[in-house]
Amino acid sequence: MQSRKVIVVGAGNAALCAALAAREQGAEVLVLERAPEPLRGGNTAFTAGAMRVAYDGVEDLRRLMPDLTDEEIARTDFGAYPAESFLDDLARVTEYRTDPDLAALLVERSMPTLRWMAGKGVRFVPIYGRQAFQVGGRFTFWGGLTVEASGGGPGLVEALTKAAEREGVRIEYGARAMSLLHDSGGVHGVTVRQDGPTRDERADAVVLASGGFQANTEMRTKYLGPAWDLAKVRGTKFNTGDGIRMALEAGASPVGNWSGCHAVGWELNAPEFGDLSVGDNFQKHSYPWGIMVNANGRRFVDEGADFRNYTYAKYGRRILEQPGHFAWQVFDQQVSHLLRDEYRIRQVTKVTAPTLEELARKLDGVDADGFLTELAAYNAAVGTDVPFNPNVKDGRRTHGLAVDKTNWANRIEQGPFEAYAVTCGITFTFGGVRINTDAEVLDTDLSPIPGLYAAGELVGGIFYFNYPGGSGLTNGSVFGRIAGTGAGAHGA
Ligand SMILES: Cc1cc2nc3c(=O)[nH]c(=O)nc-3n(C[C@H](O)[C@H](O)[C@H](O)COP(=O)(O)OP(=O)(O)OC[C@H]3O[C@@H](n4cnc5c(N)ncnc54)[C@H](O)[C@@H]3O)c2cc1C
Repeated sequence: MQSRKVIVVGAGNAALCAALAAREQGAEVLVLERAPEPLRGGNTAFTAGAMRVAYDGVEDLRRLMPDLTDEEIARTDFGAYPAESFLDDLARVTEYRTDPDLAALLVERSMPTLRWMAGKGVRFVPIYGRQAFQVGGRFTFWGGLTVEASGGGPGLVEALTKAAEREGVRIEYGARAMSLLHDSGGVHGVTVRQDGPTRDERADAVVLASGGFQANTEMRTKYLGPAWDLAKVRGTKFNTGDGIRMALEAGASPVGNWSGCHAVGWELNAPEFGDLSVGDNFQKHSYPWGIMVNANGRRFVDEGADFRNYTYAKYGRRILEQPGHFAWQVFDQQVSHLLRDEYRIRQVTKVTAPTLEELARKLDGVDADGFLTELAAYNAAVGTDVPFNPNVKDGRRTHGLAVDKTNWANRIEQGPFEAYAVTCGITFTFGGVRINTDAEVLDTDLSPIPGLYAAGELVGGIFYFNYPGGSGLTNGSVFGRIAGTGAGAHGA
């Protein structure tokens, strides 16, 4: 008897999880990846590998990370991140628009899916470097983000690719899916272009996992709006919306926040697309410890509105909205030791000066007088009654400013001062195709399109406006696994 065949489009995290799950159903699996092999891994390869997962305490983490030593456990407060907290965070940051069924599934399946990945050879470790501060000799995790894949994004891609190859998945690189083979009976394969002419690859089911449209300037401008053509792309140049376009052409329903995306503060002079040798180090995420000013020298966001994990994904848009589409992040010596490693790479646009007056003259593109006036008003408004504490939302704030800073407000007064220039870096788009809880793609009558599944960035309806850090990979894994399981069993 001939086995069922599944085609997976893409070879990032969502796709590889789908491929592995489809194999478990006994299907023959072909992965088509547009990038050449040295550039494989999609956006997944650019990540730090941070994955948001619900857990009730350290015992849950020990099951996921059996290498955790007693000594590590003794010196760390891992706390807990129960399912309700994950769901609350998703609901809150998306302003209660996240699809409740998909969100509940994402949360509920987060730990079982990571454990399934661990069973396939992905190693998870605590994310000490970026998500924990030392307090009284103990590391304390904050922001609901505790786990990362060992080796970051590249490590995750390596482990999943190895697992797929070991389990008999065929991966073809330089193979771009162009359109779906479909008729009134559903989807029956794809047309693929690889080294010249196109060919048809037939299959019983197709899983689309080929990312969003962030690397497509035209689609960005069309859907996200003016100025988005000027944003830098943080990750892969290959996520140009092909999967979304193909699905819509086959009758899929669009859903979600088509005018929204994940976008952060990103090195001003970074290249147009991501650079795998720098990875995510162009990002500049330590703004809660300082201030951000625009070309007029004015602050424009509450840098301390929340933990960085809950604001960074929406502040890229705010930077893009500023005159000239840039900002400077300014810090003094009281906090410079708190800056993340990404501030210490070679490829930064950085100025330093012993006095604020000298710094003001060095901030390229900024009105120096406007900056000094803004800084004087900011310093005068900082309340010093509450001690500064980076581990909690300390409530140390300014009072009476047009834009107050509501946590971690320190006077910027101890030189030498440091400033870093940033622009908007887009990570991925939020709008996409509509799926149900079986990861089947729905048509515009909201009925499943037989044989078509989707997972990862190109699915809409889960993220709106903002995003809790570390949810992108977990989203791809959870729905990739569900999509692959459904596709592998399709027609059985
Ligand atoms: C710098 C950076 C840092 C990040 N850090 C984190 C983090 O720490 N934690 C987190 O959760 N998320 C993070 N993210 C977000 C995360 O990368 C994505 O949410 C996630 O990787 C998306 O996975 P995916 O499988 O859907 O897409 P991808 O990993 O992008 O995979 C899509 C694949 O499809 C391929 N493709 C596209 N078109 C076609 C076609 N026509 N035919 C065949 N193949 C095609 C692409 O080449 C690509 O390989 C980060 C993103 C960036 C850019």
